This record gives sequence, C-alpha cells and structure tokens, in this order.
Amino acid sequence: MAHETNTFARHLTDYDDFAESGILRGDQIVRDYAESHATMAGFLDAGRLSGVDVIPLLFTFTDPKGTITRDAFERICVEMLQLLRDQGPWDGVLLAQHGAAVSEDYPDMDGEVAARVRALIGPNVPIGMAPDMHANLSARMIDNVDVTVVYRTNPHLDPRPRALECADLIVRTVRGEIRPVQALEMPPVVINIVKQFTGEEPMRGIVTDIEAVIQPAGMLSASVAEGYPYADVAEMGMAFLAISDGDAIAAREAARWMARRAWDKRADFTADTPSADEALAAALAAPRGPVVLMDVGDNIGGGSPADSTVLLEAAKRLGVRSYLQTLRDPDAVSTCIVAGIGATVSLEVGGKTDDLHGRPVAVTGTVRRISNGEIEELTHIYGCFQIFDGRLTVVLEATDDHTLVLTTRLIGKTSIQLMYSVGVRPETKHVVVAKGVVSPRPAYEPIAAQVVLVNTPGVTTSDLSRFTYRRRRRPLYPFEQDAEY
Ligand SMILES: [Zn+2]
Repeated sequence: MAHETNTFARHLTDYDDFAESGILRGDQIVRDYAESHATMAGFLDAGRLSGVDVIPLLFTFTDPKGTITRDAFERICVEMLQLLRDQGPWDGVLLAQHGAAVSEDYPDMDGEVAARVRALIGPNVPIGMAPDMHANLSARMIDNVDVTVVYRTNPHLDPRPRALECADLIVRTVRGEIRPVQALEMPPVVINIVKQFTGEEPMRGIVTDIEAVIQPAGMLSASVAEGYPYADVAEMGMAFLAISDGDAIAAREAARWMARRAWDKRADFTADTPSADEALAAALAAPRGPVVLMDVGDNIGGGSPADSTVLLEAAKRLGVRSYLQTLRDPDAVSTCIVAGIGATVSLEVGGKTDDLHGRPVAVTGTVRRISNGEIEELTHIYGCFQIFDGRLTVVLEATDDHTLVLTTRLIGKTSIQLMYSVGVRPETKHVVVAKGVVSPRPAYEPIAAQVVLVNTPGVTTSDLSRFTYRRRRRPLYPFEQDAEY
C-alpha cells in the first residue's frame, strides 16, 4: 500500500483515490507491473530465481496527496492481511511500501503495516521492504523487517534492481545462507528537496559512500533515505541503514560512518532558490531556450494540486513570451471541449484547488487540440510506469504566445510524451514550466538550455519555514541550527 503523504495538503487521501488508481490483486499486479521499472517488477523478478515462486497478493498506489483516511487504511490493510493469512504459509514476505505514508491513526503507517504483517506471520519468516528514496524510515519499520533496501537514485531510475536485491537477500535468508542484521541511523537532519538530486553534490558523494560501505565481506547492503519533508512525522528526515551478515556491530558502525559523513556536509543541504519573478527575469535575459523552470511549490510528485498559477501570473505580468506550462483544471478542460477545436475561449485557469497555489488567471486563447490523454513512455523516466491514462487533455494557444496544456489528472511532470502526444514541442519554447523538482530532469534535461529551480509557494515549497510542524523531532537541522549529532 504505497503512498507518499503530504500532511500539509488539504485534501485527504481516501479509499476512492486508491480504487481509482487501481487496487490490484494477484495476476492484475503481474499484468500492470511485470514489464515496468517499478519496485513490484523487481519483486516479481525474484520468481526467475531457481526454486522461487512469487505470489502477488495486493498492491495499490495513488498519487501523493493529504493524510490517508482511517477507512482507506483499515479496508486495504485488512484485505492485505486477510490474503496473507488465507494463502499462507510463506517462506518470506515482500512489502512494496513507499515509506512516507501517514494515515489518520498512524503517522508511521508503513511501520504499522510492517508490525501487523510481522504479528501475523510470526518472528521466523523474513520480511523484505524496498522503500522509495523519499521514505522517512522509522525504527518501527526496521524492527519489523529483516531486509530494507532503498533506491539509490533520485530521480528514481533503479527501483526494479533494488527490489530484486531485496528479494534476493530474503531468498538467501530463507535458505539459511545469510543472517541479515540491520542498523538504522537517524541523524537529526533534513535535506531540502532542492538538494536531493543524486547527480550532484552533496547527494552524489553521499550515495557513493554506500559503495565503500558494502565492500567488506559480510556487509550485505547499505542504503540512504533522503526523507520526505512534507510529512510532519517524528521520523521525518534523512536515514542511513546498513545490513551485515550476522554482525550487529559492523552494521552499526557502517550506518554511523555514512551518517556522520553526511552530517558533516549539512551546510550544503539547503540552498537559496530564486523567486518566480527572479527566475522569469533571468529566463527573459537568457540568450537561448528552453529555460526549464522547476515549479518546486507545485511538485506533482510531492502531493501538490498541479494547478499553481504563480509562474503563469508572473509570466503574463513580465511579458514572457514563448511560454509553455501544464495546469490541472478539469473545469477548464470541459469548457474548451464544449467550445471545440478552433474556437476562441476566454476563461479562468488554475488556482482553484486551494489558496496556496496562486489565483485563477484569466486567459483568452484558441483551442488547438483535444486528447484522451493516453501516453506511452518506453524509457525509465515516467515514474516507472509505461502507459498512463491522463484523461481528457486540451492544448490552449493563449495570447502572449503562451501555450497551456490543460489536464484532468495529476500529470505532466516526468514524461515529455505528454507534450508530444498533443502536438506540442517543448524544444521550440523559450520557457517551459515543469511541475516537479528532480523527477522531471530525465525528460527535460536533454532539451533544456538550462534548468532552474524556482522557490514558488505551495504545499511542496522548498521554503520549509512556511510550514507549522507539530510532530517532527526537535532539534532538527536546519530548523534548529545548533542541532547536534
Ligand atoms: Zn520518491
């Protein structure tokens, strides 16, 4: 039951959200995931190891949004446990939790799932988990799981091999070949979302440390979780984990070594990013485009509504032309479809979900294209899914040389195919807005003259001082500059 929960987002994540995204059982999981690059694909790959049968039970994932309702958690978790009970006994269990889920009753929902599974199957059946790199790992998760292997790339290009690594360690544990011992270190530190790209420092060096840690014989695996700062929970922050074959002290020392080295770089974990006006002014002056602006405050992958108009409003005010962005606005999509292709419409777009992401902006334009929003992405990049149903999508060629791709669903961050599928070529634009921070990079870096992270307001803003945290640890760097480790 995979979810990245933004506890600052106003709308709760309910059962219907999971149901609409798909609550998959048995072979449905194979159908949708076996050929993907997702965690579940790596778990299914374990079925290719000799003598191993993998039985998929239940999997559901829905886009990041607000806290998960009690009803959604209990219905799905109870069904999951029922399947586990009815179809057992098992030699091992694999959990495809994201690691940053929060429900109304359980701030550490993934820890609760792990604890319930452990209670059901008993202490002797090994459990593996392969969380997202944005997981807020907790002691409760780790205590109830034997093997935890976190992705090592952000943007996430390696969920499948990491999940297979996790499954393989569980298989070897079942066969008595290894005895994994995990150690978790949670230094009191948060790395800002704008510094989480593993292709650059400081994360590149921190991930490289994993390679050093796993060199000695007897070290089975090591991981770094960057954490997810938009979940207000006690375990929010970075975590370092090492797994040794039977040597608790070695695991502890390895985790501490990684954590200490990262802690020493903490001054590099925050950055000043330009405001919308500053970024657009710089883009105007740029000799060539596309200048790809990352709308950090409206990061679809982080739980935002995808309808922020902050950059659009500034672009109109500053006279930025050759400008392209997406907005999730089902009402505007309907209006355009009713008007029909070729019609000129005047309407308000975006800024409708709440008052945190700008106001609706009045635009006039020509309806250029209407699409059913089906996108096929054959590379790794699109969040590890291959086919995505974006539902009704419209291209509006607005005045000021602004191209708006209006969508029905939360889409439009990581696959450039969204643009191509509706006849828009971002390469030809001077300014392109991507609603994300890191995940759009693989799609947009190949065509971008430059990529600029923008400090826009919203539920995923990089300015964490805008949020009121109630459950996080104190002290925690950088909120408390004098935090010690
Ligand atoms: Zn992630």
